[in-house]
Amino acid sequence: MGKQEDFVLRALEERDVRFVRLWFTDVLGFLKSVAIAPAELESAFGEGIGFDGSAIEGFARVQEADMLAKPDPSTFQILPWRGDAPSTARMFCDIMMPDGSPSYADPRHVLKRTLAKAADKGFSFYTHPEIEFYLFKDSPEAGVEPRPVDSSGYFDHTAQSAGADFRREAITMLESMGISVEFSHHEAGPGQQEIDLRYADALTTADNIMTFRTVIREVALGQGVWASFMPKPFTQQPGSGMHTHLSLFEGDRNAFYEAGSQYQLSTTGRQFMAGLLTHAAEISAVTNQWVNSYKRLIGGGEAPSYISWGHNNRSAMIRVPMYKPGKGQSTRIELRSLDAACNPYLAFAVTLAAGMKGIEEGYELPREAEEDVWSLTERERRSLGIQELPRTLYEAINMAESSELVAETLGEHVFDFFLRNKRAEWDAYRGQVSAFERDQMLPVI
Ligand code: GLU
Ligand code: MG
Ligand code: MG
Repeated sequence: MGKQEDFVLRALEERDVRFVRLWFTDVLGFLKSVAIAPAELESAFGEGIGFDGSAIEGFARVQEADMLAKPDPSTFQILPWRGDAPSTARMFCDIMMPDGSPSYADPRHVLKRTLAKAADKGFSFYTHPEIEFYLFKDSPEAGVEPRPVDSSGYFDHTAQSAGADFRREAITMLESMGISVEFSHHEAGPGQQEIDLRYADALTTADNIMTFRTVIREVALGQGVWASFMPKPFTQQPGSGMHTHLSLFEGDRNAFYEAGSQYQLSTTGRQFMAGLLTHAAEISAVTNQWVNSYKRLIGGGEAPSYISWGHNNRSAMIRVPMYKPGKGQSTRIELRSLDAACNPYLAFAVTLAAGMKGIEEGYELPREAEEDVWSLTERERRSLGIQELPRTLYEAINMAESSELVAETLGEHVFDFFLRNKRAEWDAYRGQVSAFERDQMLPVI
């Protein structure tokens, strides 16, 4: 038993922990949890806790259903909403096959494998997400339009606002679980909030996003409201994205930084960005995985719909934020296509793989978009070589299906399951007759 495991076993007694929840994530990015008694933890650290993988979305075929969940002691935290003494703790798990090898279906492993490949080239990957979501007055009811908790807008400060109280309680809870929050504010839509997490290595960030989604929903329930990360809940209001700031480090040195170059961005940074632009369309099914994701990427609402980059250009898919001379370590790029309803492990894995490909192949960065890309005509965009992100999940699936990069990064099992599942979602959706069609057609035909 290592030092970290010992620390956890001691903490169980000191904090009077009665239940230990083992957390992991299915392929679609939903959190799974199994609670064990503290007495079981030593063997969980040793050989893992067995469970039936075939019951988890995307995990196993029935004939090879047995899997093991092995907790990662570095992720031990008390769940603040479950009370103190006796308390409940959680740890994220790695999923293993019965022979102890990592499960090919575990999204956390997909990310670890991709991080290890980058590490072989000397790079570690850091991320900082800006997570947006809506707060509604009631829990969802089929066929009923949700009602936002307020009618405020971007950065609004309102006396006794539900949003500000909500953010304060949520941030306090996140910080008590070791998740630092950098920034928070009311977003542009009514009831829409944003909370930005401090940058961390991508595996920690992905774990933090899973925790974040849980905390936000718990705090909402506690306050009698409903939180949702649905990318586009309203036709007429901005969607909820998860812009993510990305950087690579070589040891303690920010590999994206080069003093004196344009926007202080190094060749490595430019190549990484070129990789993301080149592969943006094919990784889209993973970074924006729902039918609804594509209703956000439609232009307007500050969400991107074209594959371009720019300096401080909010219509671009990648923005190089304003830089501060002398602050080289904070050099980064902001990917604005992601939404918070993704599986963060898989989304970060394909993002990193796309960027690394740009470095490995020495891709050239295309010209910067200085103009508002939404205001250009189709022809102008074409002559500038600016392509579109997929317009629908269907287009995205087709592009992912023929992508070697996505297949290789996800691994055969996750790739097959993911495409099958997303095709089924598209097929279920395309048969739906909508209010839009009825309203448009019944009066005239
Ligand atoms: N809500 C916008 C989106 O869906 C982002 C707004 C902003 O923070 O710039 O991407
Ligand atoms: Mg925002
Ligand atoms: Mg942003």
